[in-house]
Amino acid sequence: MTKVYLKKKIAPRIANGHPWVFGNEVDRIAGEVNAGDIVEVTYADGKFAGRGYINPKSQILVRLLTRNKQEFIDEQFIHNRILRAWQYRQKLGYTENCRLVFGEADELPALVIDKFNDYFVLQTLSLGMERWKDAIVRSLETIFSPKGIYERNDVPVRELEGLAQQKGFLSAPFDTNIIINENGLKFHVDIENGQKTGYFLDQQDNRRAIQHIVKGAEVLGAFTYTGTFEIHAAHYGAKSVLGLDISEQAVAQANRNAQLNGLDQVCRFEAMNAFDVLKQWGKDGRQYDVVMLDPPAFTKSREHIQKAVAGYKEINLRGMKMIRNGGFLVTSSCTNLVQPDLFLQTIDMAAKDARKKIRQVTFQAQAADHPIIWGMENTNYLKFLIVEVSDR
Ligand code: SAH
Repeated sequence: MTKVYLKKKIAPRIANGHPWVFGNEVDRIAGEVNAGDIVEVTYADGKFAGRGYINPKSQILVRLLTRNKQEFIDEQFIHNRILRAWQYRQKLGYTENCRLVFGEADELPALVIDKFNDYFVLQTLSLGMERWKDAIVRSLETIFSPKGIYERNDVPVRELEGLAQQKGFLSAPFDTNIIINENGLKFHVDIENGQKTGYFLDQQDNRRAIQHIVKGAEVLGAFTYTGTFEIHAAHYGAKSVLGLDISEQAVAQANRNAQLNGLDQVCRFEAMNAFDVLKQWGKDGRQYDVVMLDPPAFTKSREHIQKAVAGYKEINLRGMKMIRNGGFLVTSSCTNLVQPDLFLQTIDMAAKDARKKIRQVTFQAQAADHPIIWGMENTNYLKFLIVEVSDR
């Protein structure tokens, strides 16, 4: 097996458990380098570091799959890892829907699998993981006897690995419009054409966190996608709910979801640009009891962190200005480069500029089926904050 020798002076990152080996951390390679193959990684002193897959096309030269010298990477290994990920979710109480595999956090780098009851949507985001796609599918079949498996590999990040963007069935074809249950509500999920894997499972606990504050409230939700937070608000007793998203497709699905739950009298959705609307309606003096914001990631590159922060400040400031005295702001950020401290600072700045006083109600991350690994910052990506907003 090809051996990759690390430089003497490498960041302690790898020794501390981080699975990525960058090209500039490698001293030399003994043996052939075939993109996607399993290689052995060794510290400068000859000690075994782990086994993983290599891709010279990628900045991340090797992603480690195991640190155990006795463990070899084969179909059984992949199966064991997926089974272990499922057993972990079951321990945490998941039954129907969950992120079954969350990449690095489940020691299956660059693999994402969402379980929507009997349906599975997967993403293999690196060449090394793409190689195991058939094994992954066989493993899912063995463990779950699924009604369907679909790949949503239509993601630009695959191109950094020299992979094409593609989507399609990995099982016999099935109707990709499915209905899932969450927190006692039902939601249509469009596996084929929805965003990402079709549905954002990471907010499932956070959606319950709004239960008490929306009672009797007039609620505005922006960046609603298929309306999950808004439909929860209506279900929890909001007086009226308006949800906005720029995508016509998302808005149509959100309205269908409201109907599906018999909440379309309380909850409606419109296709609008939330940035423009927040600005204009603020000027018009529109007021709500609760404003909810859940925008898409604002940046994926370090260069643009400041711009992302400015974006968060802007929408949160405008949101706060529209909240009646003593109302609530429910705000999220999924930009992993904006770490929790920075997000909170940004909200603090927004409150100061909006001349509002805020009190923290809840601050949490994503649901436990997306485990956070300490030392792996990008696994700690979702910030979810509720604050009470009052006039100063
Ligand atoms: N709250 C949702 C997820 C939101 S994802 C849930 O829990 O399921 C972010 C959404 O923001 C996407 O649906 C995207 O279409 C929308 N979006 C992006 N730019 C927007 C804009 N300028 N105005 C309104 N919506 C926008």
